[in-house]
Amino acid sequence: VNQSRQFFVGGNFKMNGSVKSVSDLIKGMNEAKLDGKTEVVVAPPALYLLQASKEVQPPIQISAQNCHTAAYGAFTGEIAPAQLVDAQIPWVIIGHSERRQMFGDTVEFVADKTKAAVEAGLKVILCIGETLEERKGDKTDEVNQRQLQSVVDVLDEKAWSDIVIAYEPVWAIGTGLTATPQQAQEVHASLRKWMAGKVSQEVADKIRIIYGGSVNGKNCRELAKEADIDGFLVGGASIKPEFIDICKAAE
Ligand code: PGA
Repeated sequence: VNQSRQFFVGGNFKMNGSVKSVSDLIKGMNEAKLDGKTEVVVAPPALYLLQASKEVQPPIQISAQNCHTAAYGAFTGEIAPAQLVDAQIPWVIIGHSERRQMFGDTVEFVADKTKAAVEAGLKVILCIGETLEERKGDKTDEVNQRQLQSVVDVLDEKAWSDIVIAYEPVWAIGTGLTATPQQAQEVHASLRKWMAGKVSQEVADKIRIIYGGSVNGKNCRELAKEADIDGFLVGGASIKPEFIDICKAAE
């Protein structure tokens, strides 16, 4: 937590849920009467975005889990950033490690998607993170910087105000192995410093860098105490009642 940056909690439902369960989750979140101090954004599967967007009440917002780079056209199965804007979906997650590992989202493709999304008027949760092998090989900073560099290369400085960076070590995603608050803080601080050098001090001071990887109702408060941890991207626990506790972690 740093008081100058609004705490941010994202819930990534991934490929889970049904018409009914998404509806129930959104209803539960509406009823939690979140006060809006933390920015809360939930990302149901694409099929349920419109429904979720109709059912959700402020201050909770909706995000897509992915989008394409192109405006419109012959891209079977994809969603254009402009279509999300048309459907009044304000956010999109880009570069999740599952997309990078399973669906061919290269560093360049992620950068192009991010640029297309921001230009269309979306806000982006940009995911980066190293694998266990890379961490063991002392390549954590190098890998995260390479993933960010491709985006730095294509964006104007002002575009960064529409971006939240999600640091998600791949070894911590869905494994129950959370980075310790110290491990996460160390990477976040290093990324912020790197952003100051590569983009600007102002962007580095303002950008939210959130942590993802086995965040739950029990570990969220300790993580939230760290100065450079500005929130969370939550997978598994985002479809459980404890997600509400995570949304309140900075209180
Ligand atoms: P997890 O997923 O919370 O289930 O580890 C995090 C993510 O993939 O964003």
